[in-house]
Amino acid sequence: MYVVGLTGGIGSGKSAVSRQLETLGIQVIDADIVAREVVEPGEPALQRIAERFGNEVLTDDGQLDRRQLRAIVFADSKQRTWLEDLLHPLIRDRILQQLDAAQSAYTVLVSPLLLETDQHLLVNHTVVVDVEAAQQISRTASRDNSSEEQVRAILAAQMSREERLDRADSVVDNRGELAALAAQVSNLHQLLLTAAVRESESL
Ligand code: ATP
Repeated sequence: MYVVGLTGGIGSGKSAVSRQLETLGIQVIDADIVAREVVEPGEPALQRIAERFGNEVLTDDGQLDRRQLRAIVFADSKQRTWLEDLLHPLIRDRILQQLDAAQSAYTVLVSPLLLETDQHLLVNHTVVVDVEAAQQISRTASRDNSSEEQVRAILAAQMSREERLDRADSVVDNRGELAALAAQVSNLHQLLLTAAVRESESL
């Protein structure tokens, strides 16, 4: 199985690229969705979290109150490490199961934390979606109806643009219009199909 990691900073266009690859018949595994699944009610991880932090991290209907949990771990790096040590292996295992079940010519793992976690060890090829910081801020703020300050704070906490680009095998330049993005993604798709075939022939 040839696995392509797709990453980029907040609002860079990861979802836009994923959607297009899906229309080309490629299966996409979204690490954000997996990260939510492992803490759904009934999952052992949610119970462990509630035992450690108390019922204040649960909503009235027993869901994880992400905002509360984020506030706790943001203020205390020891608690953040505990939470990451609990969740990252569970997320990785579930991603591996989904990769195993995937059937397309190659499979995409889209993840904002691909390069920050050991998820990068799961992929054969890393694609980075790149934009200017000002575009990340304006596109995300208008998508989420959030303030520019909020987006700027998230951006500042993420890996730098330079470091991300350094670690890319391919870069999708999303500084232009959506039509320009589509043209690049279709070229990238051809490149990845070829790479996937080459990989399978070398086994
Ligand atoms: P996040 O990290 O927050 O999940 P993302 O990397 O998945 O974001 P998208 O949601 O794909 O980013 O894009 C952010 C916003 O910018 C969306 O509203 C999307 O429609 C818009 N967008 C993406 N690419 C372009 C573009 N080339 N021109 C204009 N708007 C764009």
